[in-house]
Amino acid sequence: MNQIEVKLIKFLGNSSFQKYLDIFPRGEQLPSFIATVKGLKAATDLWVRYQKWESFCKLVRYFGLFYYVDAYFVQDIETLNNLPKELFTTTKAVFGKHFERDTEAHVFIAKSQKSLVKITGAGWYPLVVNKKVIEKHLADHYSFGKALGYPSCCLNFFQKYNNWYFYNNYYETYRNTINTPTYLSNGLLRLIAFSLIPHIPCSFHCLESIDYAQKLRLLIKEESQEYLCEIERHLQTPILCLSELKIYRFEGRLLSKNTVLYHSVETIFPTLRNDSIYQMLIQGDICIIEGNIVRVYQDAYPVGVYFARGDRHAVEAPFLINFN
Ligand SMILES: [Zn+2]
Repeated sequence: MNQIEVKLIKFLGNSSFQKYLDIFPRGEQLPSFIATVKGLKAATDLWVRYQKWESFCKLVRYFGLFYYVDAYFVQDIETLNNLPKELFTTTKAVFGKHFERDTEAHVFIAKSQKSLVKITGAGWYPLVVNKKVIEKHLADHYSFGKALGYPSCCLNFFQKYNNWYFYNNYYETYRNTINTPTYLSNGLLRLIAFSLIPHIPCSFHCLESIDYAQKLRLLIKEESQEYLCEIERHLQTPILCLSELKIYRFEGRLLSKNTVLYHSVETIFPTLRNDSIYQMLIQGDICIIEGNIVRVYQDAYPVGVYFARGDRHAVEAPFLINFN
């Protein structure tokens, strides 16, 4: 059991939400699950492994949720590697014919039948069938976000900037942040256990996102004050973001707008552990951003340098940020 799993079990020892950890021991999307059960968020989608299906059924029954499985997926790495990279972003999977060992069910959950119907209709991803691509059009991205309960301002922003050839949505959010970034509008950790808002916000000071986070704070507090404290601590540590695929969280502090001094660093999902920047960062204690250049030092000696690329798919634009 890793440190996160131990912490979560401790935090949720007296809460019925500890049942969620039977299926997702690291608590991925747990804040969204709590928000859905307690009626703050209309619906959520989850990926449930075959081996966890029975526990999942018990969980939804216990909390009185409606669910719908839209597909089964297999982790077929060879097929995935043969797909043109630029067709897909963060969600990639291969259809499976049966629900069996080592497959996952993509399942929507909602508090009401009405919300479930809405999300099931809009919640699909671009498809490749017999070498033909079926792209998801913008209107369905919008209705999917709406069905998930995301704010309209952030949906409009996403529609404009979710183009991985020309834009980097997080960087645009950073550029669009006029007021001081607040942890209540920090969407960079949205897929892990220690987060509040589940979407990419239109700014790191988005009022609608802040309102949602304030409400969710109180709902999480009802379950565990300690869990809420850990969420808030995570959301207020320095983060380096290059794109939706390259995000790093530091234990440390910003020395200036472009310099972070740290004693530990972790990758944030979906950033890979074998990622080259992460491999550099774990050897250092200072990271400096100069335009598109990321430099890492240890005891003032250079460890390495990374040149971010803004001229290809998954546009990279590095920025360091700390949230108050
Ligand atoms: Zn917004």
